[in-house]
Amino acid sequence: MIVAERKPFEEIKNMVSGYDRILTVGCATCVAVCLAGGEKEVGILNNELKLAGKVDGSPVQLGAVTLQRQCDREFLAELDDVVKDYDALISMACGAGIQFLAERFPEKPVFPAVDTTFIGVNQDVGIYEEKCRACGNCVLGMTGGICPVTMCAKGLFNGPCGGTNQGSCEINKDQPCAWYLIYERLEKQNRLEQIIEICPTNDWRNQTPRTVIQPGYKERSTA
Ligand code: SF4
Ligand code: SF4
Repeated sequence: MIVAERKPFEEIKNMVSGYDRILTVGCATCVAVCLAGGEKEVGILNNELKLAGKVDGSPVQLGAVTLQRQCDREFLAELDDVVKDYDALISMACGAGIQFLAERFPEKPVFPAVDTTFIGVNQDVGIYEEKCRACGNCVLGMTGGICPVTMCAKGLFNGPCGGTNQGSCEINKDQPCAWYLIYERLEKQNRLEQIIEICPTNDWRNQTPRTVIQPGYKERSTA
């Protein structure tokens, strides 16, 4: 899932200062699971804004809605008759959702209330761990299911480097060396000989915007 963190309140308050009618839009998918931008977090933020408005003597009219997904036209359409009543929107979705919201309502300023952080996993309630940087050329099959882009400080596709030291990375002894972990994992799977296979160079497709069209949908996309 995509993991995000809520921005500090002062930053959000400064972004929306000067707007009297604000709609806060949450997302009930990834950012809700990671406790950053779901229905509950929308309610908390609006309460903070309401209180700050009272304290500052400039009360604001606040609306709240949480869509199933902000990165999906079908759900964004639910706002078509709603946004006209507001001067500005706050989005609590990931960066993709925020941009899709802004694209659908280009006449309205849209402000982000969360910082999108990474693609990761839910280790426990409130604890999330980065696992993937969407490099576009997944080599997990060669690395025992451990991502060298995310886990290795140098993003090495063919490691380890000379800095590996008794299982730790040279940047920090508390940081495991990704390639040490890969070695151990491949050994456990009785395929350690594969560690000497050269991973092809990554062409870093994640450096420019990408579009994915799944097989079977190409015709529809050009129609
Ligand atoms: S190799 Fe690339 S696609 Fe695969 S997990 Fe790592 S960053 Fe993600
Ligand atoms: S010590 Fe290991 S994790 Fe650290 S940069 Fe070198 S190969 Fe990557």
